[in-house]
Amino acid sequence: MKKRQARSEVPVEHTWNLDDLFTSVAAWADAYVAIDAALPGIALHQGQLGTSAAHLLAALDAVEALEQQFARVSTYAHLRNAQDGTNPAHQAASARAAALGARIDSATAFVESEILAMPEGVIPQFLAAEPGLEVHRIFLTDLMELRPHRLGAEAERVLASLGEVLNAPHMVYNRAKSGDMQFAPFSSAAGAQFANSINGFESDYESHSDTSVRRGAWQSFSAGLKAYNHTFAATFATEVNKNVTLGRLRGYTSTEDYLLQAHKIPQTVYRNILHIIQAELAPHMQRYARLRRKVLGLDKLLYCDIKAPLDPEFNPRISYEEGCELVLKSLAPMGPEYCAFAHKTMTQRWVDRSDNIGKSSGAFCASPYGVHPYILITWSDTMRNVFTLAHELGHGGHFGLAMQHQRFVNTRPGMPFVEAPSIMNEMLLAQHILGQNSDTRMRRSVIMQVLGTYHHNFVTHLLEAELQHQVYALAEQDQPITAGLLHQRKGDLLAKFWGDTVEIDDGARMTWMRQPHYYMGLYPYTYSVGLVASTAMAQRIATEGEPAVQRWLNVLKAGGTLKPLELMQAAGIDMHSPQPIHDAVAYVGRLIDELEASF
Ligand SMILES: [Zn+2]
Repeated sequence: MKKRQARSEVPVEHTWNLDDLFTSVAAWADAYVAIDAALPGIALHQGQLGTSAAHLLAALDAVEALEQQFARVSTYAHLRNAQDGTNPAHQAASARAAALGARIDSATAFVESEILAMPEGVIPQFLAAEPGLEVHRIFLTDLMELRPHRLGAEAERVLASLGEVLNAPHMVYNRAKSGDMQFAPFSSAAGAQFANSINGFESDYESHSDTSVRRGAWQSFSAGLKAYNHTFAATFATEVNKNVTLGRLRGYTSTEDYLLQAHKIPQTVYRNILHIIQAELAPHMQRYARLRRKVLGLDKLLYCDIKAPLDPEFNPRISYEEGCELVLKSLAPMGPEYCAFAHKTMTQRWVDRSDNIGKSSGAFCASPYGVHPYILITWSDTMRNVFTLAHELGHGGHFGLAMQHQRFVNTRPGMPFVEAPSIMNEMLLAQHILGQNSDTRMRRSVIMQVLGTYHHNFVTHLLEAELQHQVYALAEQDQPITAGLLHQRKGDLLAKFWGDTVEIDDGARMTWMRQPHYYMGLYPYTYSVGLVASTAMAQRIATEGEPAVQRWLNVLKAGGTLKPLELMQAAGIDMHSPQPIHDAVAYVGRLIDELEASF
């Protein structure tokens, strides 16, 4: 049986170097204390913001400095907890960071209330009078849009002080998943024993070539999830009820209206994404499922077979170093500056690639302002890993550029843009490999990787988005959100999407338990927006070359100074039109055409 390592057994060169954030836990604790000590200084601005443009600027700069410091403190706690969530010291530090965040929210809540209480016209006047306020223009403008939805100062203060409690569903979900959830070992048809884990399942067994391993792992994985189905239904329901209540309190017409406000995206685009992709992609994915069943020689395709490799013998093992080289070559169109940064990210221990007990599943990139990106990934020598690395480097490159060109307050764009630069790099990687290879098996392997990306975003995350859409509608009608209801809804929408090509079992119905996205507002659909835009953009770069690259780099540097769809517009993609969505789905169809023809 393959035994998983403890964090202490992992070679140091496979881990990230958090010294760039804080040289020691003691230094982190000092920074933590310093932030707490700075809170009374913030309070001195209270009641002063409306008195002059200079007072407003002083307060906004002070809050920005504090939040920038806090980002560093909370990232350190977050990364340590992600590298080993079973370590009680990491859990405690993470909880302390969350508590500090709530204290900051509470201590700075007056800033927003005071600005919103200013008479109409004052903010434009202040902006005209004080050039220093220009950097805060977006914050101030966004705030003005919230004006009709603000509660009284006292109510806002109470809500802010409850921040930690309001985030409890997400925290409990994560704690249960990384700390408590257990999976029984399972065996293959040949009698080999395997230990199971979320990481092991998602990065290995789920796409294993041996059907008995895949199905054995699935049984063990589903049983592990089932033990938490009422717990996770309760955390999910609490999160949903929280958002429904907050949306109502703030006078939004619907919870989706409330949650989309932060995304700065029209409801029509959100709905187009949900409807067009489900309707137009389903026939292509059903073709892909039929091909998979035929090639694998299976009587029926179970849900746990939908990621089975079609050509498992052709499985080039790719070491981390080889993966880095491939990614770097594929990023060459982005120019030398971008590539130098990517090279640094991959070689200076900014990446944590070990597999160890307690490590967070999946992959992510964190970019603390003024430091550099940190990437978490579990490397298992697969082509999938290479695509994931390219993806996370996309986030790192984006925020690396945005941090260089924008102040802290203007670094992050709205959520619907966030996944575009990352998926863009996956597209460049695919173009690079496909452009160099006429070998059928190699092309097939890369097309399947790209289809993996589309599956992940246009199917997995999109169906999560559809489930959210349905669950919020039900919760608004005061329907209780229970495990039974979630299983049924998830099963129904999977059955509708896959038709008769995939058998939807109890494990499939429980897959809503796998993702933390339900605790992040309407996050899941944003992946599809990013993928639609990056599909279009990668094609522009391939056909137009340099001018398209320049537009894209400028958009990355712009950080959060434009709204998501404005950023896409500046890159040359009109997302108000449904056309890029139709085009992206049609592109998936063409990839499946080539795959079908290759067998
Ligand atoms: Zn991403």
